[in-house]
Amino acid sequence: MKIAVLPGDGIGTEIVAEAVKVLRVLDLKLEMETALVGGAAYEAQGHPLPESTLALAQAADAVLFGAVGDWKYDKLERALRPEQAILGLRKHLGLFANFRPALCYEQLTHASSLKPELVAGLDILIIRELTGDIYFGLPRGRRKAVDGHFPGADEAFDTMRYSRPEVERIAHVAFQAARQRSKKVTSVDKANVLETFQFWKDIVTEVHAQYPDVELEHMYVDNAAMQLVRAPKKFDVVVTGNMFGDILSDEAAMLTGSIGMLPSASLDANNKGLYEPSHGSAPDIAGQGLANPLATILSASMMLRFSLQQPAAADRIESAVKAVLSLGLRTADIWSEGTTKVGTRAMGDAVVAAITGKTITKS
Ligand code: NAD
Repeated sequence: MKIAVLPGDGIGTEIVAEAVKVLRVLDLKLEMETALVGGAAYEAQGHPLPESTLALAQAADAVLFGAVGDWKYDKLERALRPEQAILGLRKHLGLFANFRPALCYEQLTHASSLKPELVAGLDILIIRELTGDIYFGLPRGRRKAVDGHFPGADEAFDTMRYSRPEVERIAHVAFQAARQRSKKVTSVDKANVLETFQFWKDIVTEVHAQYPDVELEHMYVDNAAMQLVRAPKKFDVVVTGNMFGDILSDEAAMLTGSIGMLPSASLDANNKGLYEPSHGSAPDIAGQGLANPLATILSASMMLRFSLQQPAAADRIESAVKAVLSLGLRTADIWSEGTTKVGTRAMGDAVVAAITGKTITKS
């Protein structure tokens, strides 16, 4: 099993090091090769996604990704900015299905900004379409307006679009995922205003005919944003387009306490995937040993489950994470009175100790 390890920028290098450490103690035959990506690759090789990095990712069975980006690159032309690396990887690897579980660990119920009773036991899965919608739709750009409210004025525009196969395949992914869970899918759209999302809704409804055992509900995105903070446990699988999914999955992240806890998987049609934490490179805390590595460690566990068919190893990681949380170990982002604050490395060490059966110390 070949894994391309792409740590990236900021806290990316710190958190990926911990996930690699955890993978190494699992007694699996894993071949891990590391390459530069994002700002680090731009500095060294002049491009955020060098051809050698893309080739490594293409040749691997799975990609373990940290995070990319730093404010210092904001003035670079768009094509050279670190974030283009992740968009390029999604595009070149055909990663159209983004899985973002939002799971509220019993031990972290009090870290949520919502009342504990609203989030206790929360376990929802947001499936975001990842390679279409307004983020990739062409044409886009700037021009002089020829019509609209201010003809002749400078304007900018993007194009929201979805094709039938794009909606069909993500709908199948959602219904199949729901079959492994509570058999309920909420499709989020804005069909009342947008032609693209009336089309989305029609096609999701058509595909649903093949999954009579799964319940389907449709919800407008504004209502979904509200319901996620009003009664999040009403959801099971949520499927939506690229932009709505981007926003709703971050909202769902906060229900669970910290974005530092949330893994994600981006899969192609054959379950090859890129696995990364849901958060960014956190330049504000980079290099200080403060980052929570658990989202990345849990991303590695998703990788073992979805792309490498190693469910037992994935279970071992997830149990180990629960064990360290039960022991009261917390990085700063999830720390609360009465728990023990630890740094990035100590948290990784504790997960390793829980897996290998060594005594976990709180120091
Ligand atoms: P961010 O997710 O990096 O950080 C948001 C806040 O959450 C910060 O206060 C940060 O300290 C905190 N945080 C994030 N991860 C954490 C962790 N593991 N442990 C503890 N705290 C954590 O988002 P941002 O600040 O908006 O963006 C920073 C950079 O990351 C930007 O350049 C952005 O473009 C990039 N970014 C990259 C990705 C990616 O690589 N997939 C995703 C989002 C943002």
